[in-house]
Amino acid sequence: MALQLYNTLTRQKQVFEPLDPANVRMYVCGPTVYDFAHIGNARPLIVFDVLFRLLRHLYGVDHVTYVRNITDVDDKINARAAERGLSIRQLTEETNAAFQADAKALGCLDPNIQPRATEHIASMIALIERLLLTRHAYVAEGHVLFDVPSMPDYGRLSRRPLDEMVAGARVEVAPYKKSPMDFVLWKPSAANEPGWESPWGYGRPGWHLECSAMSWQYLGEVFDIHGGGIDLVFPHHENEIAQTCSAFGHSVMANYWLHNGFLQVEGQKMSKSLGNFITIRQALKDWPGEVLRFNMLKAHYRQPIDWTLASLTESQRELDKYYPVATQFAVTSATLAPEFLAALEDDLNTPEAITVLRRLYRETLEGDVALAGTRFASSGHFIGLFQSELADWNPAPILFDKSHVEGLIAARLAARKAKDWAESDRIRDELIGMGIALKDNKDGTTSWEVKR
Ligand code: AMP
Ligand code: ZN
Repeated sequence: MALQLYNTLTRQKQVFEPLDPANVRMYVCGPTVYDFAHIGNARPLIVFDVLFRLLRHLYGVDHVTYVRNITDVDDKINARAAERGLSIRQLTEETNAAFQADAKALGCLDPNIQPRATEHIASMIALIERLLLTRHAYVAEGHVLFDVPSMPDYGRLSRRPLDEMVAGARVEVAPYKKSPMDFVLWKPSAANEPGWESPWGYGRPGWHLECSAMSWQYLGEVFDIHGGGIDLVFPHHENEIAQTCSAFGHSVMANYWLHNGFLQVEGQKMSKSLGNFITIRQALKDWPGEVLRFNMLKAHYRQPIDWTLASLTESQRELDKYYPVATQFAVTSATLAPEFLAALEDDLNTPEAITVLRRLYRETLEGDVALAGTRFASSGHFIGLFQSELADWNPAPILFDKSHVEGLIAARLAARKAKDWAESDRIRDELIGMGIALKDNKDGTTSWEVKR
């Protein structure tokens, strides 16, 4: 089976055909390093890591170039450094080191190149000069702006109607813009702000420009895959396309645009104000990185994912069950289960791949030990599971909130009283998933214990 990927540009699943099979090129937008990455940021990290592994398997380890940038110049960084009394360099170094450690703990391979924006200012200036030369940009009051109406198919990726884009852009209205949609390529910096000398004075680049410059430098004018979260489609990716295509005169920047869906926590948008904001760092205190990874891969990357304590607990229990079996077999990439690989090749269908993994586990226990076991271990290993020795696999203690468990038990009793058996079964299953065993007593009460 050939690799197929859903392309946001065409809104279709397409057979993947690299420009050069000897060098398959992928760019993924990386973090802005001002604070710890959150569990939502872990999603693109893990999803594109699986794609990177798959591409390396299909084309050869030395035939894939994966670039993930580090945005280390940004107004949020300036503000946070000032707040914490750190220099910008201290803050970005510290945050980047934490990010790298998080990515490693989640089992992600290092991308081939992780360029930092601040080390690529020369490419950014060169790109702006090309845009000025080709009349896709103009200088106004110390700023350089991209002239959006100069690009006839602006909006092709996000398919947003023009009036909507104009309305959105009005938020950032500035008197020096020719059109409200025009966006900044270069802006002036005050003496106490980070900046670089340029033909337009002391200043700094716009965010969108960074990715166009760094992908150009490492992957060329047109490359294969560009990825990121769905929130980046507009305006970030739309603007990257506008810059790169206008500068080099090609109709596309990357042939395949992949976007992961959003993660929410216990059914709600994650936000600091709701108190449900989880950093990868905090999550790693409670769960092994492989549990977080497995839990993420149980959902298809394009679907939204609901991050819950119940599903994490189930993921932990499932891996606890697999570890003693998987670690008995030697892993090789040649012994991946064919159906497992086929599922991944089908637009990274990790839920289907995990279904195959579950079947292989059962087959290993039921008899066909050598073949099924090797395939089981190798397939799990391929997506970044079973990386530890059994002795090092420390099942984390199940964390639960006692009052939450008792609340669920009370809700189940109420459902039973109302003869709502479906609801009472659902709650019982949720509790079982959390590792809680129930015992219904003769006197109508229910006792419970933690089963592990
Ligand atoms: P940011 O630092 O906000 O630019 O995000 C870094 C990456 O994480 C981008 O690819 C975002 O699209 C992605 N991202 C941010 N929040 C979430 C979320 N809640 N769920 C999934 N992806 C996210
Ligand atoms: Zn980007």
